[in-house]
Amino acid sequence: MRNLSDINVIKEILSRHGFSFSKSLGQNFLINPSVCPRMAEECGAADDMGVIEIGPGIGVLTAELAKVSGKVVSVELDSKLLPVLDETLGEFDNVKIINADVLKIDLHRLISEEFPGMRVAVCANLPYYITSPIIMHLLESRLPVENITVMVQKEAAQRLCARVGSRQSGAVTVAVDYYAQAEKLFDVSRGSFMPAPNVDSSVIRLTVRDEPPVSVSDESGFFRMVRASFGQRRKTAPNSISAGMGIEKSKVTAALEEVGFPLNVRAESLTMEELAELYKALRRQIQKRE
Ligand code: SAM
Repeated sequence: MRNLSDINVIKEILSRHGFSFSKSLGQNFLINPSVCPRMAEECGAADDMGVIEIGPGIGVLTAELAKVSGKVVSVELDSKLLPVLDETLGEFDNVKIINADVLKIDLHRLISEEFPGMRVAVCANLPYYITSPIIMHLLESRLPVENITVMVQKEAAQRLCARVGSRQSGAVTVAVDYYAQAEKLFDVSRGSFMPAPNVDSSVIRLTVRDEPPVSVSDESGFFRMVRASFGQRRKTAPNSISAGMGIEKSKVTAALEEVGFPLNVRAESLTMEELAELYKALRRQIQKRE
């Protein structure tokens, strides 16, 4: 098997296939040989596990996953990479490549058809332009996966893995924490990619929870309030929630008084439990007749 993290090997294969990198598809291929084996280990890849990979590129992570897991299904949007992957992964009989947009494919069906009776994980070096949409799509669709182990931009990793209620947290932090326990595993420098991006990266693992940490009767309403409260970070909660949700400020103020939070509280200082409490109070206020 050729060394798929060797820059000269990559250049030779890609030029033979007439392939040129697409910036708009987030194509930065790994050239650091230590990263992929570590990612495969961190996602728990083993004989009884099926792994979904997003964006195999030239197949460098795919090959490492194939060596240690039962089966790998990789979803690649760029059809120009299919003949490349045919060549680089030809020796593996436990790899399947699907030419599709990961945001559009039915992943529940993929899991039941490709991985019956297997544990499942997602492992990928994500295209940076759609990191959060992909992560939220995987979590919100409640895929039956154990974990999502992915490389993302370092700044995105900080936000995704922040503690809810800390200054680094955002709406996406709350959403991720609702579905999974997030942890940052290790950093990867920009020089580990070809072409080198302008930012460093981090590998994170989201271990999917069996149950959310709080119970809210209407999840989509809860997340609407969370997005509204973080939408205008400089504003206090009553202002940002009333503007973002289109409800009277007096209702938000009454909800905050009901749960005993200061009226000048900011969303970023509220824990998951406090956000859930506030949402319940807000619902009661909205349902109250004038
Ligand atoms: N896994 C390879 C590596 O580590 O070298 C490539 C990673 S590169 C950062 C991202 C890959 O995702 C590219 O191969 C790109 O074509 C693919 N991609 C971009 N958007 C996609 C989408 N919506 N669905 C599936 N694959 C996508």
